[in-house]
Amino acid sequence: MTEKMYISGKCFCGQISVEGRVSKHSVVACHCKDCQKFSGAPFRSIAVIPKEDLIIIGEVTEYQKIADSGNARLQGFCGRCGTQLYATGPDKELFNLRAGFLDQHNDLQPTTHIFSKSSPKWVG
Ligand SMILES: [Zn+2]
Ligand SMILES: [Zn+2]
Repeated sequence: MTEKMYISGKCFCGQISVEGRVSKHSVVACHCKDCQKFSGAPFRSIAVIPKEDLIIIGEVTEYQKIADSGNARLQGFCGRCGTQLYATGPDKELFNLRAGFLDQHNDLQPTTHIFSKSSPKWVG
């Protein structure tokens, strides 16, 4: 049993809010090229959360990305202010929440770094 922590967050303009529970061990920092492109940042931290632990209120816009593998991924964001909210599969079972917009970001320290090879060389 891993202990779960309450999380909450709103997009920048406030039309979308989320609430849920995440395991602190489910937070990763992703340095892949797509995270860099979508976020405009050197990497993105992500909290992996099953759908039963997540409530989303508001109208989310989704962009479907097709990965090199052929897998479809839905990228959820606020269509008004552009805040990135999550990525999920077409079945919407598991969500990769973007930890940067969560109120508890400070306590959600990534336990793993993935795709570090594509990290810019100046990231420590
Ligand atoms: Zn918004
Ligand atoms: Zn990534």
